[in-house]
Amino acid sequence: MSKAKGSILVGAVKALRQRKEEALAVLPESMHRYLTDRILMADWYPQEDLLALIRALMKIIPGDPDQVLRGMGAATARELGDGVYSNLMTNSGSASTTFALWSSMHDSGTLKSRRDAKTKEIVFELVDFGSPSAEMCAITGAFIQESVRMSGHTGTVQKTSCVLDGGACCRWTTS
Ligand SMILES: [Zn+2]
Repeated sequence: MSKAKGSILVGAVKALRQRKEEALAVLPESMHRYLTDRILMADWYPQEDLLALIRALMKIIPGDPDQVLRGMGAATARELGDGVYSNLMTNSGSASTTFALWSSMHDSGTLKSRRDAKTKEIVFELVDFGSPSAEMCAITGAFIQESVRMSGHTGTVQKTSCVLDGGACCRWTTS
């Protein structure tokens, strides 16, 4: 079972605690401890627990669920700010860059970026992620979009492949 760092759970946990009554109603009982126990930033938590927290939030936050996911991804990128920026800016050549940040947040998968020599597009690929889900994919896409925006690029990020659709990896391309 793959794991996620406490630092990326904490946003969802905080949001759920602000809506504790509703959260208790939608979270399975085994997850109720997340509403009371201290979350340790550097500890690893089951990726499926992160997904359960995200799904609970999507049930109780009003509005478009996709928007909720995009908000989470963008917020993560902004929290990491400078690190993401410098990671992206090392990607000026065609050699692929590995986002060390991904590996600091998830114990499986590698997020890489490279510039396509022919199209000049920046291509992001998430490979070997142990717990793929539509939710994590949407969050990751929004994370990439916000990172790209913060680094001063104006292009939009498009998803061009997904393991959930049978692809070899999840891929986003910045035009
Ligand atoms: Zn995907």
